[in-house]
Amino acid sequence: MISWRQILRQNFTSWEKLSQFLGGEIPHLLKNPSFPLNLPLRLAQKIDKHNPNDPILKQFIPTTSELEVKSGFSLDPVQDQTFRKERKLLQKYHGRALITLTGACVMNCRFCFRKNFDYETEEKSFEKEIELIKQDPSLKEIILSGGDPLSLSNEKLGEFINAISHIKKIRFHTRFPIGIPERIDEGFLEILKNAKSQIIFVLHCNHASELDEDIFLSLKKIQRLGIPILNQSVLLKGVNDTVLALKELSESLVDHGIIPYYLHQLDKVAGASHFEVEKETGLQLVHNLLSLLPGYAVPRYVEETAGEAHKTIVT
Ligand code: SF4
Repeated sequence: MISWRQILRQNFTSWEKLSQFLGGEIPHLLKNPSFPLNLPLRLAQKIDKHNPNDPILKQFIPTTSELEVKSGFSLDPVQDQTFRKERKLLQKYHGRALITLTGACVMNCRFCFRKNFDYETEEKSFEKEIELIKQDPSLKEIILSGGDPLSLSNEKLGEFINAISHIKKIRFHTRFPIGIPERIDEGFLEILKNAKSQIIFVLHCNHASELDEDIFLSLKKIQRLGIPILNQSVLLKGVNDTVLALKELSESLVDHGIIPYYLHQLDKVAGASHFEVEKETGLQLVHNLLSLLPGYAVPRYVEETAGEAHKTIVT
């Protein structure tokens, strides 16, 4: 069987190849962006070639809109750098810390708030970070982030999870299964099965068109281990800023036992201002969703404000 690493090599990283695949010129393409094109084949195959406003196209194709400079948009909008305790360990909230296990990602979303991070892409050890985690008894939960934590090998992931087995909860923040569901392989499932900590998954999916049955089958393997899966989305202009798009996403997730958890206001990262949705619009969308869906299917609309002790509900 073909491995997830082999599938990863099929990603589109050249706009020439992607244009050819899509059968024509990509409108407003930015040919040499500093945050490069990186799109899994599975997602590229879902693009409607006749729709310049396709939600997947919009999320992953660099366009000249990224050159727009808008006040309030910066390189590190949530001030990750300020909250570093060690090179890869960040702590913003009480009892929880986040580790950027790897800078590697299976896909490059144009609105990613960490797209300017300079973390290494090769696999490194985390001795200093593990030591700090061990020294701090107030830590009850470690969030594995990146890049995407599932970009790491099973071997490294297993080592890390074992090393912090005194921690009550370990949370994965990942978008990987959306691009390459084959990543949920036997080796990874073994790690989850043997983990002493409680494991929680938080998926990142923004539009129902990103999803398919193979993805849900892979996620089901995690759910069968008793691991809850939640989803977080980013509210993005031209992608999911309609009641219909948000409703379809929530319904699709809930149908497969995934709880829509957060709808994030865009973090104001430089080059992504064209994705910003006004908060008034976001509030109206969530209000309308409440009249169409049961409460558990409506995500909490939140924003991250640097320095706040928790995410803030948008009001
Ligand atoms: S998958 Fe997540 S970390 Fe990777 S580019 Fe997209 S938003 Fe950023």
